[in-house]
Amino acid sequence: MHGEVRTTERLTPSLIRIVLGGPGLNNFVMPDDDTDAYVNLAVPPRGATYGPVFDPREVRETHPREHWPARRRCTVRRWNAAARELTLDFVVHGGSGAAGAWALAAQPGDVLVFNGPGSGYHPDPTVEWHFMAGDESALPAIAASLEKVPAHARVVVRLVCDGPEHELPLESPGRLDLRWVHRTEADPAPLLAAVEAASFPGEGVQAFIHGEAEETRALRRHVIRERGVSRETMSCSPYWRRGMSDEQWRSVKRDFVAAMNSEA
Ligand SMILES: Cc1cc2nc3c(=O)[nH]c(=O)nc-3n(C[C@H](O)[C@H](O)[C@H](O)COP(=O)(O)OP(=O)(O)OC[C@H]3O[C@@H](n4cnc5c(N)ncnc54)[C@H](O)[C@@H]3O)c2cc1C
Repeated sequence: MHGEVRTTERLTPSLIRIVLGGPGLNNFVMPDDDTDAYVNLAVPPRGATYGPVFDPREVRETHPREHWPARRRCTVRRWNAAARELTLDFVVHGGSGAAGAWALAAQPGDVLVFNGPGSGYHPDPTVEWHFMAGDESALPAIAASLEKVPAHARVVVRLVCDGPEHELPLESPGRLDLRWVHRTEADPAPLLAAVEAASFPGEGVQAFIHGEAEETRALRRHVIRERGVSRETMSCSPYWRRGMSDEQWRSVKRDFVAAMNSEA
């Protein structure tokens, strides 16, 4: 599958919205309810000798490794079924990496090859209240999820970013208790303290914690141990790991997730 870039928009200094369209999306099927749907991107390296529309498997079979496309995951922020347009929000982090750098350079008419989507979470309409926490990489899923929280359900959201100009307006029919915290040199990971300080309305919560790996793990540990959140009603996903490219992260992710999930 592939999409053609229709528009690019700088949402914040660290987030770029790309809207894809075109006939390459004809077979795209969005999971009915899920709000954390993601696609598996195939981002070719600069100077790739194959065309913009390619079969990643075929490229791996026929080209040297240095020409293989980088595999990256990105959340579906929105799928407009009527217009058949797919919206993805990319974190640009210093221009490094394959996905962030691709988004930074993307122009209308560019092509993005991907497969998917996969997914696994949506706000359960029967729970008492919702808790969501994460960083910029989890914003697309959290924004999509907030839109689906039933009216009158309480939802406590704690988000981390680099400063007020990196915040996005977020809307929900639910009763929203939303706070942003900002990284500083003195405190580069302030999300855990913000969650520790949050007032939890009581039992019957469904939790969504996605983002940087160590931060996600620490949050998971806290809400299970200190707040009595049940593992069964939690979606917890370490999307990326500080200091590691996605290739490096994927090579240790399985062990990390196993260790994280074994923590009671
Ligand atoms: C299911 C799933 C859904 C995801 N959805 C999104 C999404 O919607 N939007 C999105 O932007 N990301 C999303 N991510 C995270 C994204 O796949 C990773 O951040 C990925 O590493 C980005 O690739 P890259 O090529 O830009 O950087 P890489 O080449 O992987 O990394 C280069 C350097 O940048 C650092 N880095 C990577 N990501 C970040 C970041 N977010 N902030 C600061 N530094 C970073 C790395 O640690 C490394 O040092 C998702 C991940 C998963 C598993």
